[in-house]
Amino acid sequence: MQPILSCRNILVDFSGFKAVQGVDLEVQPQEVRFLIGPNGAGKTTMLDVICGKTKVRSGEVLFQQTKKITKLQEHEIVNLGITRKFQAPSIFSKLTVFENLELSVKQRRNLWSVLRAKLSGEEKDKIVSLLEKIGLKEQMSEAAGSLAHGQKQWLEIGMQLMQEPQILLLDEPIAGMSESERYKTGELIHEIADTCSVLIVEHDMEFVKNFSKKVTVMHEGKVLCEGSMEEIQQNEQVAEVYLGR
Ligand code: ADP
Repeated sequence: MQPILSCRNILVDFSGFKAVQGVDLEVQPQEVRFLIGPNGAGKTTMLDVICGKTKVRSGEVLFQQTKKITKLQEHEIVNLGITRKFQAPSIFSKLTVFENLELSVKQRRNLWSVLRAKLSGEEKDKIVSLLEKIGLKEQMSEAAGSLAHGQKQWLEIGMQLMQEPQILLLDEPIAGMSESERYKTGELIHEIADTCSVLIVEHDMEFVKNFSKKVTVMHEGKVLCEGSMEEIQQNEQVAEVYLGR
């Protein structure tokens, strides 16, 4: 299978400090990939590069093998099908759950049509089926600000899914969640991967283990190793720098 995303030899330099130094990373279609590593390893910077928030000093990010996205603006990258959910939810608290999702649909339109437009029946159906997927159908008329922490995170994931991404970038999606919320989030990510690749920066090793997917370990701006959780746990370097053995 051909990768949907290829990061090649990425170098990011913040005023002389090399936060990412020659990273290669490939993500396959419908793959769930975890990016782990100690604080300061460069994981968030890699997500920032992919979504266009941070520009590279050198290297290339290719989407669907041929589209060079390295120099594109953030909104152009979203339009191509790569969306990002940041750690802190950025939902509109006073709007209802449904209205938050409605806004995501309308984001694709120009401002004039956003102000005037009503949702089509098809768009409404799409929101309702998404509400079922993220487990918030019963809460659809509640103010988003009244949701529990986990529900807010799911709503925001839902808002990203309304953009119909091909790659979803998640930054510590289960941070601050209860055990049952973590479980539900895991299920949701599995379901999302039916149609979309998911690249996740995660600190919680138990959560990562439950997925038994490929993991990329970063350290000091470089990829230390890649493999299954079992493989990386047996890697001596990983044990030294990351698992504290
Ligand atoms: P991680 O997500 O793995 O914890 P980051 O990608 O956030 O690591 O950061 C990697 C390194 O780059 C850290 O040393 C961090 O302090 C530094 N860094 C990140 N963003 C900036 C910035 N905007 N300016 C300067 N240094 C930064």
